[in-house]
Amino acid sequence: MKYVYFFGAGKADGTGEMKDLLGGKGAGLAEMTRIGLPVPAGFTITTEACDYYFKHGKKYPKELRDEVAKNLAKLEKLTGKKLGDADNPLLVSVRSGSARSMPGMMETILNLGLNNKSVPGIAKATKNDRFAYDAYRRFVQMYSSVVIGLPKEELEAKLRAMKSRLGVKDDTEVSADGWRDLVGEYKKYFKQKTGKDFPEDPTEQLWGAIGAVFESWMGEKAVTYRRVEKITGLLGTAVNVVQMVFGNTGEESGTGVCFTRDPSTGQKVFFGDFLLNAQGEDVVAGIRTPMHLDEMKARMPKVYAQLEKVRQTLEKHYTDMQDMEFTVENGTLYMLQTRTGKRSPTAAFQMAVDMANEKLITVEQALERIKPEDIERLFYPVLSSKLARHELANRKLAEGINAVPGAAVGKAVFTAEEAEQWAQRGEKVILVRRETSPEDVGGMYVAQGILTATGGKTSHAAVVARGWGKCCIVGAEKLDIDAETKKMSSNGRVVSQGDWITLDGGDGSVYTGEIELVRPEPPKAFETLMKWADKVRKLGVRTNADTPQDARVARGMGAEGIGLCRTEHMFFKDFEHPEKSRERQRAIQEMILADTPEARRTALAKLLPFQRRDFIGIFEAMDGFPVTVRLIDPPLHEFVPHDPAKQEELAKEIGISAEQVARRVDQLHEANPMLGFRGCRLCIIFPEILEMQVRAIIEAAIDCQKRGVKVLPEIMHPLTLDKKELKILETETRKVADAIIAEAKVKLEYLVGTMIELPRAALLAGQIAEVAEFFSFGTNDLTQTTMGLSRDDAGRFLPEYVDERKAGVFKADPFQSLDTEGVGLLMKWAIEQGRKTRPKLKVGICGEHGGDGDSVKFCHSLGMNYVSASPFRVAIARLAAAQAVIEEKQNSKKPKRAAKKR
Ligand code: PEP
Ligand code: MG
Repeated sequence: MKYVYFFGAGKADGTGEMKDLLGGKGAGLAEMTRIGLPVPAGFTITTEACDYYFKHGKKYPKELRDEVAKNLAKLEKLTGKKLGDADNPLLVSVRSGSARSMPGMMETILNLGLNNKSVPGIAKATKNDRFAYDAYRRFVQMYSSVVIGLPKEELEAKLRAMKSRLGVKDDTEVSADGWRDLVGEYKKYFKQKTGKDFPEDPTEQLWGAIGAVFESWMGEKAVTYRRVEKITGLLGTAVNVVQMVFGNTGEESGTGVCFTRDPSTGQKVFFGDFLLNAQGEDVVAGIRTPMHLDEMKARMPKVYAQLEKVRQTLEKHYTDMQDMEFTVENGTLYMLQTRTGKRSPTAAFQMAVDMANEKLITVEQALERIKPEDIERLFYPVLSSKLARHELANRKLAEGINAVPGAAVGKAVFTAEEAEQWAQRGEKVILVRRETSPEDVGGMYVAQGILTATGGKTSHAAVVARGWGKCCIVGAEKLDIDAETKKMSSNGRVVSQGDWITLDGGDGSVYTGEIELVRPEPPKAFETLMKWADKVRKLGVRTNADTPQDARVARGMGAEGIGLCRTEHMFFKDFEHPEKSRERQRAIQEMILADTPEARRTALAKLLPFQRRDFIGIFEAMDGFPVTVRLIDPPLHEFVPHDPAKQEELAKEIGISAEQVARRVDQLHEANPMLGFRGCRLCIIFPEILEMQVRAIIEAAIDCQKRGVKVLPEIMHPLTLDKKELKILETETRKVADAIIAEAKVKLEYLVGTMIELPRAALLAGQIAEVAEFFSFGTNDLTQTTMGLSRDDAGRFLPEYVDERKAGVFKADPFQSLDTEGVGLLMKWAIEQGRKTRPKLKVGICGEHGGDGDSVKFCHSLGMNYVSASPFRVAIARLAAAQAVIEEKQNSKKPKRAAKKR
């Protein structure tokens, strides 16, 4: 196996296509060399070597030493210089680079090859003592911290102390002697800390650096970055050993970073920074203020013209915006790196649309360029970047699961009731709860953001907040939340009711204090690109919406109907007439506490007008698009108060004794409510609930139809077990609906179907489809019941389960991204069997996965009719559905691999 790839003097062993093996940087250097751009020579150690290193107890493949030695000799021959030579020494940089760009997450060592012998050599060759010793101190400093792990801060402190001794402010003012002394100090410190001398032997230095780069692949920063960016399946990092070129040899030299287009706006302008007389890390570290490229143009017109040409060549070659690093050494331009540039979400849309219009890429490529996160980040507020990183780190209180992105600032409030009161007097609040329940909906609605100590991505808080696009962090396990004393604490810090806190739903961080937020504006290019997506996709995209408001927002986002209206969410809050919320709550509670069917009917009659009004609003918002309404689903105990004071209040209001309330609440208690008396079982046992809900739906539909609003109601039963159960419900549903329709003397089409949320239902789907006119996969519950993982509690250990350095059992949280292997298999079976029985069976998904890009693609592959996502994820689903078509097309074009010969 070949582990090392050489590049230099116009030739390269590798190509730009070999990113997986050579990493982005290695592949870029090879490709730039091949197309004749000025690139310093060097070689790349492959990611396979890194993979081997970690799989074999941190040992290198045995052929690696030999290959490195040979390639080093080749490099020495090509450059006419030797590593560690006293007269004409070669210096190299040793840089990381994986297949996916992970900026700043891994390590780099520069100026390697310097030692007591070669420093005078460099000084002589450059006729610059100061430069030589500056280079040496940089190397010793980097090597000590990166390879050996000595604290950066202490090394920096020595540098500061030296400057203050010399009475200078800037590094550029330090003399050769100053740097020489600092090298001496560093080496002394090195010996003190490690018990060894700083390595003089360049080969030892090189292997130390190679090892450190490999190690950085598994460093905390890199692992976290991969997790957050969902980067999986890579072998490791490559190591690039490249001849050093110097931007700090004088006023004819410099170094810079540039982008072929503006990475924040996407405009087609050359964008970048240049520092005269400086080395690469000076630009990154922001020690001096760099000059704009226009200024560079004025000072070095020839080099600039050459760079502008490289810009055009590279963008055309890679057909994407490039982020390039370059160095000018005594008037000669060297390209050190090119990679596809990171961009803001706005820029991502702008560039994709512009490049397609310029015919640099196709519309399909433009669609593929956008990631789900680009869309998310386009709509949600984010933390302003004004606050320095260390300040942010100081303010961090806790970390949880990033259930809904965006950011929120407000005063911490520990009960939903108070959240509503505080909000009413104009305060911005963050609702902090151990967990939330439907009783908290009012408080959740008025809060800027929601923070819970328990739960996962499909817990109540997450599902509800997602529907509103409201920042939500769940499962912040380390937070000690005490609703009694109205305080929470973590890491010895206490936040009391009324203290400002800031949530970053992007990464799940909780900060103390009020941090400024910025709200991005969706650019015009967003609309254009989404229209392109709609033309390509085959899947329908609906939304999960429970109120007329949500339905209207979702229409604005391009939803083509409602895939799930959770009727129970309507029981607690009257979004159009908030003053009526209490009346609603009391009606549902009265219904639950009722002892007899008659009492239950009386209470239900009070709920009927509320639900009918909601449905009218929803049908109107969805004018002509289908609306799937799900009948009551959650366990009843969720609707009644558990603390005695509130029970007493309720008893008084509905005219029964507090004991009666307490007894009934007690009766409703279940050891395992998620597997208890819930779902369609509620309507089997209490058919009067079904009667009221179906009546509300059908009467609302008739009302709308009479006014010329087109309606397509779909009545859905949750958590069905089998055909027999569904048949009872279907018969009852049709009986109620048809009677109302007949009485109104109208024609109204409606469908009756079921959710598929239990493995048994999936397995028996063929029979269920004899009754159901449609299936909608409730993959929140289907994941819970298939995997045997509680959607409300699994947040406790799931982060470890998806952390590749810990258990690493799952690639992703299965409540967020479908477990296509297990849950997916049941879905596939259910669709096949269902359609065998009823070929035109309508199939959709309404679990949270309907708004997850990868899951949407899977749903497309299963031949579903539509996916349903919360309003703010509708655009993600539209895009992913288009990408699914494009990927399918690409895969069908790929030549099938010939069967392996034995
Ligand atoms: C589901 O289980 O996937 C679903 C959509 O229903 P709910 O989240 O309301 O249980
Ligand atoms: Mg469910």
